[in-house]
Amino acid sequence: MLDEARRGEPPRMGGVVEVICGPMFSGKTEELIRRLRRAQIARQKVVVLKPFLDDRYADDHIVSHNSQRVPSVRVESSEDVRLLGMNADVVGIDEVQFLDAGIVEVVEELADSGRRVIVAGLDLDYRGIPFEPMPQLLARAEYITKALAICVVCGHPASRSQRVTGEGERIVVGSTDHYEARCRSCFRAPIEEETHAKDANVVAEEMAGIAEGGRRQQDA
Ligand SMILES: [Zn+2]
Repeated sequence: MLDEARRGEPPRMGGVVEVICGPMFSGKTEELIRRLRRAQIARQKVVVLKPFLDDRYADDHIVSHNSQRVPSVRVESSEDVRLLGMNADVVGIDEVQFLDAGIVEVVEELADSGRRVIVAGLDLDYRGIPFEPMPQLLARAEYITKALAICVVCGHPASRSQRVTGEGERIVVGSTDHYEARCRSCFRAPIEEETHAKDANVVAEEMAGIAEGGRRQQDA
């Protein structure tokens, strides 16, 4: 759904899309904060957005594991991102994988209008399957940073988020010890029936909770 006013208009200069992706505990938020801070120091107008998933986390900051924080605004949809993003030079979005598919077009639109858009999020879910809409964003981005964590089993670079709870267990959102970083060889995908039994929203909440609380674990 391209903005009518934009059709036929050439994109403005300077717009760019940057994606920071990787598993849990890889320091994505830390990297996002680092970039946003530098833009703030340069007196650019920065807005930081984060999907609203659960009011238990209705804070107004994004926080990295080393307790760096920047003020953020909770958004419920990609449409919110469009409206808030239009008022800034630099638009940062954390946990972008939890926004609706419309975020792809919104990010493009913001960049086409001359803005710098920096998004961070999980590229793979707990099954090791690409987390939409992240692949769409990665394909359109000018700059991609793939952050890696450290595999808790073998110590090699970790690209996967391993779910380590018993089957069917309902998890307290925000608990940190139900996921851990794993490398390709140590990662074990969940068995198929467990995957289907699990409500997708529950998993999304869990992973969001981890993204909040899990930063106490050391990043790569
Ligand atoms: Zn490993």
